[in-house]
Amino acid sequence: MKITYYSNSQKFLYDFQHIIRAFYPGVEIKFGNGGDVHFEALFENSFVTIKAKKAGKEILVRSFMLTDDEHESKKIFGRNLYDVLKALTGKELPWGILTGIRPTKIAYPLVEAKLSAGEACEYLQREYYIAKKKGLLLFEVAQNEIDVLNKVDPLAACLYIGIPICPTKCLYCSFSCNELNRETESLLDLYTQALLTELERTYEIIEKNKNRIVAIYFGGGSPAILGAGNIKKIFESLLASLNKEDIREITFEAGRPDTIDQSLLELLSVYKRDFNMRLCINPQTSNDRTLQIIGRNHTFEDIKRAFELAKEYGFENINSDVILGLPNESEEDFQKTIYDVLNLNPASITVHTLSIKRASLLRFRWQEYRFMDEGTVNNLLDWTKSILSAERYIPYYMYRQKNMIGNFENVGYSKRGFEGLYNVMIMQERHNIYACGAKAVSKFVFENDRIERVFNPADIQLYISRILNV
Ligand code: SF4
Repeated sequence: MKITYYSNSQKFLYDFQHIIRAFYPGVEIKFGNGGDVHFEALFENSFVTIKAKKAGKEILVRSFMLTDDEHESKKIFGRNLYDVLKALTGKELPWGILTGIRPTKIAYPLVEAKLSAGEACEYLQREYYIAKKKGLLLFEVAQNEIDVLNKVDPLAACLYIGIPICPTKCLYCSFSCNELNRETESLLDLYTQALLTELERTYEIIEKNKNRIVAIYFGGGSPAILGAGNIKKIFESLLASLNKEDIREITFEAGRPDTIDQSLLELLSVYKRDFNMRLCINPQTSNDRTLQIIGRNHTFEDIKRAFELAKEYGFENINSDVILGLPNESEEDFQKTIYDVLNLNPASITVHTLSIKRASLLRFRWQEYRFMDEGTVNNLLDWTKSILSAERYIPYYMYRQKNMIGNFENVGYSKRGFEGLYNVMIMQERHNIYACGAKAVSKFVFENDRIERVFNPADIQLYISRILNV
């Protein structure tokens, strides 16, 4: 099947394309004419007509007026397009016309206006066609995000330190992450040197902007790959230059068990004495067959060992990522993963829904595997929430990605008091995020919600030479 869409205006083109995509997952959709199904959005001042054609014949036509308010008009456009697609496919989307990756943003004003959960759901259903269960989840997450955010002031900021190198590349990874090989291994010390140089420059900007770094995130990749010696140098730099009193959280994405060893934990446990240190140990699944399929060079037993070791070193604030909808996984496989992870008793669990991204290897090989259907994924998301709620995990942050199975969501759950501050601040886009390392993206927030992003080179060698030769 091939689908095309055409508009005589750039207005709402992003939503036009993305709402169609959400109704036809995995189908080739192109701007232009022809195809098995064709959609048109024709704008004439504030008057719009949406047409759906099959084999060149008009089968549905809908006309409506936009208003002077851009935001309102966007919703009017989305709802009319949705109605056409629903009539054509008979489908409904749990997230309605919402295309953004930060859905809680639309729920903050509802929390701030002190609406009840029922009133908020009604509003979200009426304005965005969001299903009741998703509306309730969204409202709960927004309440929890705001609780976390109320504890930081406007000058609070985050610092991200990126190390985009991993032992092997996961099948679904679209991040320009480098595999560890002879070449990347030979660059680890130089990369650390570049990071330290960039950090020195970043401290000056932080000071000039009068920002206070409250959350630091070591991400990647797998930051532990730098080795304890290099990580120690980075910590020494941070603690020599930042105000220690301001730092409320340091997250270290240990990620994969094959990079977690005694020397790393010994080092991190030193800083744990003075800081709230979050450690991420991410199984993704407890199924060893799946771990092999997704290209991970470890078993679930290795994850258990890494957990035990981390607990021996006194780490309590551990996060575990899992992915729903992995290749060849059944409903039972995923449920087993949740129970197995709960047995490890992490402080937080982040539940992702598989996203088949354009730059991933999976994008080219997905036909080799079986995937859960959208209905099963949706049921499992509801099941996960009920199981985790019963174990006293609260949903505290949420985001969506493009090309997720069934267009669903990723949700971070935590035990009360273990919410990841960095995760909330990055989602809310109200604070500056300083980011160092290859592929890192800094984000500066100005008045009227204007955001400017500064991108570092993705290529490690280019990053090193830019930083060290400037
Ligand atoms: S661990 Fe994360 S960054 Fe590394 S290859 Fe896998 S998905 Fe990519």
